[in-house]
Amino acid sequence: MGMMDQDILKVLYTEKQIAARIEAMGMEMYDALKDKDPLFVSVLRGAFVFMADIVRACQVRCDVEFIAVSSYGNATSSSGAVKITHDIQQDITGRNIVVIEDILDSGNTLHFLKQYFMTKGAASVSICTLLDKPSRRTKAITADYIGFTVPDEFVVGYGLDYCQKYRNLPYIGVLKPEVYGGGEE
Ligand code: 5GP
Ligand code: MG
Repeated sequence: MGMMDQDILKVLYTEKQIAARIEAMGMEMYDALKDKDPLFVSVLRGAFVFMADIVRACQVRCDVEFIAVSSYGNATSSSGAVKITHDIQQDITGRNIVVIEDILDSGNTLHFLKQYFMTKGAASVSICTLLDKPSRRTKAITADYIGFTVPDEFVVGYGLDYCQKYRNLPYIGVLKPEVYGGGEE
């Protein structure tokens, strides 16, 4: 038991379940990407844990980049506007981009990033997300690779935060309402 576990109401996916799912995703992606010299672009910070695991589960010849965008700040609802706060460091003309995301929620972030990479001359942009929350979608966007489809609950762990904390939990769970300060949002 770590000191953060007491804040968790319930575990949605255990460390073992996540590892098994990522192994299967990696094999599926290997078949699709083995001749594509893909560039995996992780969206900071939430996807940093998933990125480390998915690139090792998918043994293609590839390179990796990181991009940071402003999204939720410290709240639990989206502002809608997306801004790049750290950009990738190379020319992507003609490249097959695979965006690695923690969770596809409203779709604002990935809709923006897909357009952004296409504008910069990518040959293709596909999306790999560990979690998909389709009930909250406001933009017409779907992922090419999905780990788990989740209900409309705010989740933390395995890279995902609440107020920048809980990213290092090895599992994905839902916080107790009192952790948000009475459960009001
Ligand atoms: P979107 O732009 O699709 O609305 O949201 C994408 C970002 O919102 C994700 O990268 C993630 O940082 C944040 N987000 C959306 N839902 C959740 C959630 O349930 N838990 C956490 N921790 N972050 C979320
Ligand atoms: Mg995020």
